[in-house]
Amino acid sequence: MKGLKGKNALITGATSGIGQAIAIRLAQEGCNIAINYRKSVEDVEDTEEMAMQKACGDIDNCGVKSLPVQGDVSKEEDIIRMVNTVVEQFGSIDLLINNAGIQTECSSHEIDTQDFDRVLSVNLRGAFLCARETIKHQLAQNRQGVIINISSVHEIIPRPMYVSYSISKGGMENLTKTLALEYAGRGIRVNAVAPGATITPINQDWVDNPEKKAVVESHIPMSRAGTSEEMAAAVAFLASDEAAYITGQTLFVDGGLTLYADFREAWSA
Ligand code: NAP
Repeated sequence: MKGLKGKNALITGATSGIGQAIAIRLAQEGCNIAINYRKSVEDVEDTEEMAMQKACGDIDNCGVKSLPVQGDVSKEEDIIRMVNTVVEQFGSIDLLINNAGIQTECSSHEIDTQDFDRVLSVNLRGAFLCARETIKHQLAQNRQGVIINISSVHEIIPRPMYVSYSISKGGMENLTKTLALEYAGRGIRVNAVAPGATITPINQDWVDNPEKKAVVESHIPMSRAGTSEEMAAAVAFLASDEAAYITGQTLFVDGGLTLYADFREAWSA
């Protein structure tokens, strides 16, 4: 896609699911990729191998670089170190993809305060702090930049039993819009991609269970779950110069889920 070749991208939570697919797709588009991982560096190996295979095929050194960067996005000191490391190694961060995310299931009246805080600190505060640190560098270097937040259909659809997750993604809509407005005049575009039900490890519970999967898919107008690659394609578009005039928007990639499937047929005459 236009304008991606040679760009430096940092993708958080890039060792599984949607984040991994984004890293691979951006490498395929010719970006240098900083692959954020949380636990052990071994987690990065598969992502790196698949990304470099897509980017370079059989060529040994095709110019696309990959950089594993450890960091827990719920920790401010990790984020500062991670962003500084990428800038030192790559020279800049042109694209930040805030993808790392977690969820916990619990009745809202019973949720433990620590569990509530943990989801917010990864999904929302972490995304903000990564954006803050990246924007500092982009402004200091007088560079244009792109930030893409991986939100969710639950940015707008309330999700009972997942109150912290719903709040984090609802907040992400405002984070996207506020940063987009604040930095539009400085050449930094900020958008979000909001996946619907997507086949990734976060959904292990229904992905591997045909009956549960059928229930999930019955609620989706297009009658199937999405793939990580379909989310990555939307990210590549918004990151590219094809989207040069788009900022402050959320692109829902959800098979029609936000069209409210229950209204496929009229409830009353
Ligand atoms: P996933 O496979 O579980 O991936 C989540 C990634 O985030 C993992 O690599 C995980 O690393 C990382 N992560 C978690 N906590 C972190 C932390 N504190 N610091 C750094 N990285 C951390 O789930 P996914 O489905 O790909 O989700 C990716 C994003 O898409 C999330 O923001 C999620 O809310 C959003 N989303 C997913 C769906 C869906 O149906 N799959 C739908 C809507 C939105 P570790 O394994 O080391 O914890």
